[in-house]
Amino acid sequence: MVATKPAVELIAVSKRYPNSQLAVSQINLRIPKGSYCCLLGPSGCGKSTLLRMIAGHESVTEGDVLLDNRNVTNHSPAERGTALMFQNYALFPHMTCLDNVAYPLKVAGINKSARLEQARELLAKVNMTDYSNAYPEQLSGGQQQRIALARALIRKPEVVLLDEPLSALDPFLRIQMRKELKRIQHEMGITFIHVTHSQDEAFALADTIVVMSKGELQQVGSPQAIFNKPANPFVANFIGGHNIIKNTPELDNTLTNSSLTGIAAETAFSVRFDRIDIVEEPENNTLPAAVMDVEFQGNHSLVHCQLADSQPITVLCRDNETSLTTLYPGKPVHLHVNPTALNLFTH
Ligand code: ADP
Ligand code: MG
Repeated sequence: MVATKPAVELIAVSKRYPNSQLAVSQINLRIPKGSYCCLLGPSGCGKSTLLRMIAGHESVTEGDVLLDNRNVTNHSPAERGTALMFQNYALFPHMTCLDNVAYPLKVAGINKSARLEQARELLAKVNMTDYSNAYPEQLSGGQQQRIALARALIRKPEVVLLDEPLSALDPFLRIQMRKELKRIQHEMGITFIHVTHSQDEAFALADTIVVMSKGELQQVGSPQAIFNKPANPFVANFIGGHNIIKNTPELDNTLTNSSLTGIAAETAFSVRFDRIDIVEEPENNTLPAAVMDVEFQGNHSLVHCQLADSQPITVLCRDNETSLTTLYPGKPVHLHVNPTALNLFTH
């Protein structure tokens, strides 16, 4: 495997706001050049603080920020080669879209015809050519965002930083815009760092997901790696689709040849909702359970059950599974869990 040079490297980066607890704690992270990275975590976990420290809009309390192997910890935003797209877009209301996009080049002293030419190219890239002469107030939120993105891209930054860029859009536009972000990132080959609290968004967009909680890194990996092997109960719970189950001697005895053998009781593990099957009769690797509730979700249903020791466990059934029609609250069932589907937490 070829080691990719990091565009961004964080070394033991921490942030403490005056008179408050650590907002970001000892983050070590390397983000490969040209990749799409999502910072994912619940509100208040430190995502925006970390993003602003990379951009230079927030001072670093401790640690170092390296961009393309240059230590930029004490550099201003303009000296870094990063571009932050603000959550509220921050467009200039008295300027046309074309002038808004061209503005960073004007500040940089580029002559008018050259900067307008580049601005037109960027407007085409974000599919906003028809709005060149419109003013921001004449645009929808989604269109304003495209203009803000074009403006962030015009100086060809090494790293583009986006703070919850899709959260103000309605669900339909959000999905459309996320496809466009990915296309633009891919076409331009620029490193994107995108803050989100939506696991769907991170799964759809990211090459690398960085999961955070309470200012700390929880797990870093591809969407597939994170979904298949969540490192700890926080990650399993936050990304969804996983049962978190406490090991008990009964489970240990039932799930033969499982990775549970030898691990301590009370140790938790996770198993995906879609890796469990409902069967009528007990067999190898089945756990007795009772159906509590069936939730219809379109092309699948979630069957919420309870194990004999009252631990909750959810099973995802596709709509073509015949057993689904025979389920009702209170029905005793057996849950088949393939021992290879058990994920032991690493921390
Ligand atoms: P997120 O973007 O993940 O929602 P933030 O980075 O905005 O989280 O905030 C992380 C923590 O830092 C929160 O506890 C928040 O209240 C605190 N915080 C954020 N900005 C400031 C600030 N300017 N001054 C003091 N505390 C702040
Ligand atoms: Mg935030």
